[in-house]
Amino acid sequence: MLLLAGGRVVTPGGVLSPGWIRVAGRLIDAVGSGHPGEQPAVDLRGQWVLPGFVDMHVHGGGGASFTEGTSDEARQAAQFHRGRGSTTMLASLVTAPVAELEARAAMLAGLADEGLIAGLHLEGPFLSPARRGAQDPRHMLVPDVAVFERLRAVARGHLRIITLAPELPGAIQVIEAATRVGVTVAVGHTDATADVTLAAVDAGATHATHLFNGMRPLHHREPGAVGALLDRDEVTCEVIADGVHLHDITLRLAARAAGLGRLVLVSDAMAAAGMPDGRYQLGSMQVTVAGGVARLLEDPGQVGDPARSDAAAREGAIAGSTATLADVARHAIAAGLPVPDVAAAASTTPARVLGLADRTGALRPGLSADLILCDDDFRPRAVMRQGQWLVAP
Ligand SMILES: [Zn+2]
Repeated sequence: MLLLAGGRVVTPGGVLSPGWIRVAGRLIDAVGSGHPGEQPAVDLRGQWVLPGFVDMHVHGGGGASFTEGTSDEARQAAQFHRGRGSTTMLASLVTAPVAELEARAAMLAGLADEGLIAGLHLEGPFLSPARRGAQDPRHMLVPDVAVFERLRAVARGHLRIITLAPELPGAIQVIEAATRVGVTVAVGHTDATADVTLAAVDAGATHATHLFNGMRPLHHREPGAVGALLDRDEVTCEVIADGVHLHDITLRLAARAAGLGRLVLVSDAMAAAGMPDGRYQLGSMQVTVAGGVARLLEDPGQVGDPARSDAAAREGAIAGSTATLADVARHAIAAGLPVPDVAAAASTTPARVLGLADRTGALRPGLSADLILCDDDFRPRAVMRQGQWLVAP
């Protein structure tokens, strides 16, 4: 038994201040408010306790990637994020030739067998070149059930999410095929109208990949994928709330429109997360990071981003982020989202989307002892996963 007491403990029912948590082996044994009546092993005074984060969309970090490199490098990327509070994560791949995706999915399935990652997210290859962001248009394909099945087979049950553009021919068949076998379909990197997006949701799509980024902007007469995805209650909506990908007003509007239980915070981090500015790789694309902002090195004009000046257009599209999910959560709190809502969006809701709600995602008895101790600025100071300190207090 390990008792932690005296801090602010963020639970699904609200913030216990002061609160305590008792850990028994790998699990949370009990959670309570006030003082537990015995001397705690860990004094939480001045600290917050949040559930370990669940990052559904992450490509790499700490100089290493899931999208290229060896399995040791993939391991290094997962360990980097774990040590910063993401105790559960998917490994996200980007568009690449199918044979390469097969090889990477097979390699990452091994890491999922070990429990290092919770599965795979295929962000591609069935995406729209018009909304490619930092993805390589040369390897984008029209949706094809046979290709989907090949990728699913090599992932050996670990493929959890596929992001696709529903306006492409064959998309509805892939959505139906994926839904039938329990793979979550996310709408993203898409130029779809609202009507086409609604048809995708009717066919089984239930998630939005980085809402607003890589999709048609919300227009009052053509609300596009953004409007349709926010409008449908069965859709969970990812946002990259790093202060770079979205304006804080956009973040607050999305949080209000999606409401508690539908907003998901993701990092969309690439290898450059936690690393100095410089040149990095995202799949086959070259990315340069300046001032913590990752952009494509070369980017022959993409459609409509009114926020980009001519100079910015020459700089290239924003690529993945350089943030951890803890950075994103801290930014969301600074932007005005309530702490319990941020804990829900960074842990509870993504755990539910991944079918892991009975194992992790909240500070609740019976769940895995996955937790983060943060200072008053919400910087992680200690991380526990399955009852073991990854970073000791
Ligand atoms: Zn991504």
